Amino acid sequence: MTDDLGFASRSDALSFEAGHGAQRNPTSTGRCPYAGGAFSLRNARPLDHEAFFVGELDRLRLEGRYRVFANLERHAGSFPHATHRGGKREREVTVWCSNDYLGMGQNPAVLAAMHEALDRCGAGAGGTRNISGTNHYHVLLERELADLHGKESALLFTSGYVSNWATLSTLASQIPDCVVLSDAGNHASMIEGVRHSRAPKRLFRHNDPRDLERCLADLDPAAPKLVAFESVYSMDGDIAPIAEICDVADAFGAMTYLDEVHAVGLYGPRGGGIAEREGLSHRLTVIEGTLGKAFGVVGGYIAASEALCDFVRSFASGFIFTTSLPPAVAAGAAAAIAHLKASGVERERQQDRVATVRRRFAEAGIPMMDNPSHIVPVMVGDPVRCKAMSDMLLEEFGIYVQPINYPTVSRGTERLRITPLPMHTDADIEHLVRSLKAVWRAVG
Ligand SMILES: *Cc1c(COP(=O)(O)O)cnc(C)c1O
Repeated sequence: MTDDLGFASRSDALSFEAGHGAQRNPTSTGRCPYAGGAFSLRNARPLDHEAFFVGELDRLRLEGRYRVFANLERHAGSFPHATHRGGKREREVTVWCSNDYLGMGQNPAVLAAMHEALDRCGAGAGGTRNISGTNHYHVLLERELADLHGKESALLFTSGYVSNWATLSTLASQIPDCVVLSDAGNHASMIEGVRHSRAPKRLFRHNDPRDLERCLADLDPAAPKLVAFESVYSMDGDIAPIAEICDVADAFGAMTYLDEVHAVGLYGPRGGGIAEREGLSHRLTVIEGTLGKAFGVVGGYIAASEALCDFVRSFASGFIFTTSLPPAVAAGAAAAIAHLKASGVERERQQDRVATVRRRFAEAGIPMMDNPSHIVPVMVGDPVRCKAMSDMLLEEFGIYVQPINYPTVSRGTERLRITPLPMHTDADIEHLVRSLKAVWRAVG
């Protein structure tokens, strides 16, 4: 299915590109009227762009994959409870799909660090990193991150998406003749980064070191190679065979790039991710992570050698030409990382909640995808039913789980992606199981 994810994102982007120039739909998008040739200025009929937007959105609705955002007001101190506004009525809900996996977004140490930095330094950073926007908190956070992953250096970005996009596009475009080997299940941010680099790319079968080996063996032995993959895959919750992939990469002299976005904070004795848990951090050329999931704030980063980080710092457009993170955000992230380096109780409690949810679902006959991580995908397999179940859970049972449809997952694997949190009580879990059984029956 993850094969489809890569292809799905690519074909979506292709049709997007086609909408800018090629004849995707001759009635809605003509060629540039100024280009001469077939169209002259006089007889070109301009696109009714409003009608185009409405038509495309209707198409999404028809397919059951139009995205509706739940309007939530989160409550610090009683997370994962929130007020849902904008439904039929305002009501209190329990969130079951948050990526604030350990509740660090409301951890007292994180909030205190953010308050202090806000009061000391003000709201924004006031510039790009190069032009007055490097605050002492950014420097401290980069040290904290380098230490977390046992690397010489780390580099901050405004999000995990940007860190993947900017780093992969910079490395793959700047290293002469670089070829990228990309796991077929990779996240959109990695796919976009590689695409933007215009470097040649080979997809290898998801989590399949033997297929990676075949792809590598096909390439010019002298060409620089970069293997890009994730540790915990966010939608299926499966985990990459990192050691085997590194073995294959090493045999061909390839660099390795690991997205640990869904693992940092959650795995390893200090929250350094799956690579830390398995003692493999030193084998990866680049480890990429986010500050927006288990660390509870926002931002992204890479950790790598001093030279590599300095190279990306110096050549990546997506790093250079954008205002740096607010100092308070950097302070909050550093506090979250420091806390989770020392404390394992959040991780243990989360794993306990995950195990309990899985056991109760199995007892109740609720079909879930088996995996070794903290992500519990309840498989529905139909976009309209998936959305209907999510709506019913919200309106009738006060449970919020966002439906996950194409193109985030491939068609036919639509699901409710449940993320148990340390704060979910036994009573919350029982209510979830009862409610899911009821909506399952109702939707058929
Ligand atoms: C969420 C996600 C990202 C992007 O991280 P943000 O900090 O949310 O931008 C990157 N990779 C994967 C696998 C993700 O799930």
